[in-house]
Amino acid sequence: MRKEPPLCKLAIARRTYPCYKISKGKDESARHMEEASIFRRKSRIIRIGSVRIGGDEPIAVQSMTNTDTRNVAATVAQINALERAGCEIARVAIPDADAVRALPDIKKGISIPLIADIHFHAQLAIDAVKNGADGIRINPGNMAKERIAEIVRTAKEHQTAVRIGVNAGSLQKDLLAEYGVSARALYESALRSVSLFEDLGFEQIKLSLKSSDVPMMVEAYRLIAAATDYPLHLGVTEAGTLVDAAVKSALGIGILLAEGIGDTLRVSVTGDPVSELPIAYSILRALKIRKVGAEIISCPTCGRCEIDLAGLVSQVEQALAGRKNYIKVALMGCVVNGPGEAAEADIGIAGGRGFGMLFKKGVACKKVEEKDFVPVLLEEIRSLDNES
Ligand code: SF4
Repeated sequence: MRKEPPLCKLAIARRTYPCYKISKGKDESARHMEEASIFRRKSRIIRIGSVRIGGDEPIAVQSMTNTDTRNVAATVAQINALERAGCEIARVAIPDADAVRALPDIKKGISIPLIADIHFHAQLAIDAVKNGADGIRINPGNMAKERIAEIVRTAKEHQTAVRIGVNAGSLQKDLLAEYGVSARALYESALRSVSLFEDLGFEQIKLSLKSSDVPMMVEAYRLIAAATDYPLHLGVTEAGTLVDAAVKSALGIGILLAEGIGDTLRVSVTGDPVSELPIAYSILRALKIRKVGAEIISCPTCGRCEIDLAGLVSQVEQALAGRKNYIKVALMGCVVNGPGEAAEADIGIAGGRGFGMLFKKGVACKKVEEKDFVPVLLEEIRSLDNES
């Protein structure tokens, strides 16, 4: 007898939770998800300060400072730099009472929502809520139940959302004994915390189940996505320096987003957190989930290239960093394939010998000398912006 072929994991995942049929016109994100045929998991909506997370709200991009939170000026400066690069929610570490006391002054200097990240010390979480944090991130598995009840009471009073942040590096002993460090252990730990919060009558929560192991993290999120409708914060933790962080995040976060899982995300990079934002938006743009900022199409160059294409790309990238409005810019090494390969671009340059052809939507417009590439491109982009 012929056996039915096994369902792929994606098909199983899609069958286990309700999805939004993405509707036209809700916002940019929804329209582009429809283009990409992504059926987003239906999650409930929570609010972190002015940003709504979940449902069919845009997938929010977060980052975390690496300044000493007690140094208000340095922390405010870094959060504002993160915001200029596109960060929509900032998180700060709260290692002690002095860091909690810095929160009101930090809030005064920034305009995006602020999340306080607390490990172990319930009192710091309670005080962070009282001091105006828009959200807190805790791992309830590391805190006594009665103290969690106090945190929940305070969060309810202040209408502050809580991220339950489960991490493969800090799982409860009994779960480790039963499941080892695994997707199942992450999932069970998150579920346990969800039950605790629900028993306490608090549902303004989002969940993260992070690991530095990409397949483990993907599987853990799939499991929790099928079991609850709370919004999910995606991330690969301890992802390393730029290249590893970009690859691991694109895979881990990208696989989940492509399956419709995830409501907010952070790309973790060892180094300047500002470098996380271009990676985060590149992932969202590549999946056609959010059309924001400058998408730069550039060729790898070959023996036909007679301009300094790498230098041009680097200058244009810098000039357009942190841009909000979407634009696709093609920077190609030659006119042989350049315009054709980048026909979808809003604007672009295809190099020649000491000059380049400026084109818009794949149509050649004018010749530009190599020394004028950057100013001419930026001027043309400004005109396009003014037209739209
Ligand atoms: S666009 Fe031209 S220079 Fe660039 S890789 Fe293709 S053929 Fe080579």
